[in-house]
Amino acid sequence: MASSMKAVTFTEHGGTEVLKYTDIDRPTAGEGQVVIKNEYAGVNFIDTYHRSGLYPRSTFPAGLGEEGAGTVVEVGPGVTGLAVGDSVGYVSRSTLGGSFAEFTAAQAGLVTKLPQGVSTQAAAAVLLQGLTALSMVKTTCQVAAGDWVLVHAAAGGTGQLLCQLCSDIGAKVIGTTSTPEKAEVAKRCGCSDVILYSHEDVVQRVMQLTNGKGVKFVYDGVGKSTFDASLKCLDYLGWLICFGNASGKPEPFDVLRLAEKSARLMRPSLFSTLAAEPGLTASLTAELLQLVQQGVVVPEVHKVYPLSAVAQAQQDLTGRKTTGKLLLRPDTLG
Ligand code: NDP
Repeated sequence: MASSMKAVTFTEHGGTEVLKYTDIDRPTAGEGQVVIKNEYAGVNFIDTYHRSGLYPRSTFPAGLGEEGAGTVVEVGPGVTGLAVGDSVGYVSRSTLGGSFAEFTAAQAGLVTKLPQGVSTQAAAAVLLQGLTALSMVKTTCQVAAGDWVLVHAAAGGTGQLLCQLCSDIGAKVIGTTSTPEKAEVAKRCGCSDVILYSHEDVVQRVMQLTNGKGVKFVYDGVGKSTFDASLKCLDYLGWLICFGNASGKPEPFDVLRLAEKSARLMRPSLFSTLAAEPGLTASLTAELLQLVQQGVVVPEVHKVYPLSAVAQAQQDLTGRKTTGKLLLRPDTLG
């Protein structure tokens, strides 16, 4: 087998021009790791934060990509339950190589053997955003039937899955999107009402829809541009779950502002949640993939890009041109 491979790397923070599609050494499986030949890698907003330096890298050259799916080609010492030839999906803290590469060395505990009926494409499309959504709906917060929920960027990758999960529970889901076309997508994912947040007054509309009460949960992955309205949309004892920064990170915040509604502010991270509870990765992933098999969670693939077109994929994502999931596929796989 070749000792080098194609991968995406960067040696300084910046725009998409810093991304290089290049040859690096193929990884080998260390203690507790397996090497996966990637068929698909999932593109996530977090990759753009690593590239830009919002979440800075401490060492260069750095790789990108925290999610993928393919076939196990090597099993490291101490790994049980996985074998060469297994079809798997994984999430992974990105390292040199990351998932934006032909091969990835991933921690076995974050690798899942795919059940019958779940393709590598579906796994790469749903794992990271799906685990994020599921953990925020059922683990770090518990949404219940009848709760009012507001989901920002409801047609995005994570947004769609949040809407599907909350509406399946029986919550009343309000979405926000930037365009009427995206609003239709959000409605298909379970939103009863969608607010065009670039034109409409979000707080006023939410209060109209909830008879002046506000919502119990706001899922806000947009950040800077929505934070203020999100806080004002809450019901008494409501939760503002501020889980991302698509428009930039929110401004520093006066904690006294929570007092008006005795509100709760949470800033969850998927990887800190998974690390805190042994066994959670396996149980949440099993639950997520079962929901995919049942058709409750339906990942929508926006587009599959060749790995060498990673810059275009990131530009489309940050340019608000996409709905659902963007995937990369090693060029050699066509
Ligand atoms: P999305 O597919 O949701 O894309 C981002 C969407 O945000 C856009 O489509 C756009 O929708 C909306 N948006 C609003 N303002 C802006 C802006 N100024 N620039 C770009 N987009 C904007 O991406 P992901 O699902 O990958 O990620 C969504 C959020 O979830 C991100 O903030 C990400 O960091 C976060 N996240 C957090 C995790 C965690 O563990 N905390 C894990 C996974 C994701 P529209 O056009 O409708 O406004």
